Amino acid sequence: MKVRLDHIGIAIGAADEATAWYRDRLGLQVTHVEQVESQQVRAHFLPAGGAMLELLEATAPSSPIAGFLEKRGPGLHHVALAVDDIHSAMAELRAAGVRLIDDAPRPGAEGALVAFLHPSAAGGVLVELKQPAVGVGAGRPQTVPLFKTPGRLPLGDLELVTLCDGFFALDGGAMFGTVPRTLWERSLPPDDRHRIPLSMRPLVIRTDAATVLVDAGCGDKMDAKSAAIYGLDRRYHLDHSLADAGLSVEDIDIVVASHLHFDHIGGFTERRADGQLVPRFPRARYVAHRGEWHDATHPHERNRASYLPENFQPLMDAGVLTLVDDEAEIVPGVRYRRSGGHTAHHQVLTITSQARTAVFTADMYPTTVHIPDPWVMGYDLYPVDTLTFKRAFAREAIAREYVLFFEHDASMAAGILRESGGKRSVERVL
Ligand SMILES: [Zn+2]
Ligand SMILES: [Zn+2]
Repeated sequence: MKVRLDHIGIAIGAADEATAWYRDRLGLQVTHVEQVESQQVRAHFLPAGGAMLELLEATAPSSPIAGFLEKRGPGLHHVALAVDDIHSAMAELRAAGVRLIDDAPRPGAEGALVAFLHPSAAGGVLVELKQPAVGVGAGRPQTVPLFKTPGRLPLGDLELVTLCDGFFALDGGAMFGTVPRTLWERSLPPDDRHRIPLSMRPLVIRTDAATVLVDAGCGDKMDAKSAAIYGLDRRYHLDHSLADAGLSVEDIDIVVASHLHFDHIGGFTERRADGQLVPRFPRARYVAHRGEWHDATHPHERNRASYLPENFQPLMDAGVLTLVDDEAEIVPGVRYRRSGGHTAHHQVLTITSQARTAVFTADMYPTTVHIPDPWVMGYDLYPVDTLTFKRAFAREAIAREYVLFFEHDASMAAGILRESGGKRSVERVL
């Protein structure tokens, strides 16, 4: 049996106090909170190096954590070890006479399977065995919590709703360009195929005039071979996310593309039962940048794999696509701003209402780990342009407290960039 430390469970009393202590004294941030109804527990996850701390708070007097606190007070509760195959691990332990609490694995958070060993069999330690869900994160300690819940943020007169079209994985080296792995792997540990987990997070902007969708994830047209290469995990996808946000495809008036790469606009079209490709949002007008359209329809060897005509040509054929230029206003308060770099005409979206500004950063800040100016993706066609834009943009975002949306960050949808003592950090908003 090969085990890896996944997390350490700690029973806590007041969550605010406990999480503030870990943040202020040890610099550990809560990246993910999960309510486990069956256990009457709220779990706060804090990545720490290659594993996590899981702070466990009782949500009812009958919770096992409430019982533990009453008997022993706050403190170490359990140690969780990840295994590749929990059934064979349990069989091996049972054969060796190790006493187990669970006869069979039961479902844990995020699709994992878990089972507990009895403390009397493990030197007084409650040990949890955990088999992480297959797909993104398999074969890797779950140090990157996958966050998928739609989040709402009022911004002046507007409402922003961040959605999720699932997760995928790309080569970590390619995602960080010239930055050595030793620097990024602590923040985003790669799996056994060197891939790091990424999300696809479209954004809904609701104004009095219209409901706008920015990007739409990769959609459901990807073939099985590509889906395996990209570790695609769409068990939860855009339709679920729209429904959770109280929306449907019919509600979208305008769909706008940051750029035309498949992981951003695959969801713009769908294949009908008769094989025909049609716009996925039946009432929507679609908007893309004129220069980006030109590049997507005249690809070269370096960008061809990212531009799949099935995602954009049917929109032009259906007469629903409008091409616009730099600084185009999509609806009042929402405009394109050219960042370039990633592609020549890559756009971020600025959203302004009542003197507050949010920016959908698309592939300019794909994740919060890409905040340092020179941490530029190897995928970028014009990396020095990315660097130049990021340098100026970061200063502006810090000074004006922009809310930044991170389309590919697996654990944070939006945050505010802060700088103190020359060190940058992102304060979570969603
Ligand atoms: Zn891209
Ligand atoms: Zn992308």
